[in-house]
Amino acid sequence: MSSSSDLTNIVALVTGANRGIGFETARELGERGATVVLGARELASGETAAHLLRARGWKAQALRLDVTKPEDHASAYQYLLQQHGRLDILVNNAGILCYDNAVTASPSELRRIFETNFFGVVGLTQALLPLVRKSAAGRIVNLSSILGSLTLHSDPSAPIYTSKVFSYNASKTALNAFTVHLAYELRDTAIKVNSADPGWVKTAMGGAQAPLEVSEGGGTSVRLATLPADGPSGGFMHLERTLPW
Ligand code: NDP
Repeated sequence: MSSSSDLTNIVALVTGANRGIGFETARELGERGATVVLGARELASGETAAHLLRARGWKAQALRLDVTKPEDHASAYQYLLQQHGRLDILVNNAGILCYDNAVTASPSELRRIFETNFFGVVGLTQALLPLVRKSAAGRIVNLSSILGSLTLHSDPSAPIYTSKVFSYNASKTALNAFTVHLAYELRDTAIKVNSADPGWVKTAMGGAQAPLEVSEGGGTSVRLATLPADGPSGGFMHLERTLPW
């Protein structure tokens, strides 16, 4: 796969694709010719999003997929197997945020954040990996965040030093560990696994004060989803810049 190529024969699944960065990622992959499966926990919102892409003449399908539900992982596997027989691009985009801190975070809230941002990603990726292995050039993109960087959180001079949102940040740090370990396990395959920091984007999660428009927020995900054969694996990137773990 080449980052400049068109994606006519590529099948991509984006989770949480009904809005925000996920929808923008699906839009950009669809525009380049990929068949995009838009995962959404509410099928109706996925259908609405897929309809918007099909209206432009692109190939888009909606799939009900709550990343916290193992039964949805299994049905996503069956759907992709029957419809396409393989999966070329998996963008683990769905994510949630809550504002808490390490002194008062409740275990139940910590678990809720991890269910979506970490366990859901691990479970879905493991379920779909047999289909990614059938791709000539599988690409797995985990939507992390610069807030998952322990190096920057330990550096008082780092711009994110005071952004200590405990459960969310810890879930993205754990997700980064998954990226590193999975990339290692798949090192002898054509599959590339990377963590993406999309930047601070004006979505429901990012808020109105974010500097990046949604139209700019899919850049890192799309770049990592379309890496050429000599591209990195096991990395943590914002656009072309490597971030510290
Ligand atoms: P939004 O809040 O705008 O969108 C989140 C998406 O995830 C929605 O489609 C939502 O679906 C979906 N989602 C949440 N929980 C689940 C679930 N259990 N199963 C399936 N889908 C789910 O977020 P963004 O677009 O801003 O963020 C996308 C990713 O980028 C996240 O992983 C986030 O952590 C990361 N990120 C975002 C940044 C930003 O500045 N915006 C910065 C750094 C990282 P529904 O509509 O049903 O709620």
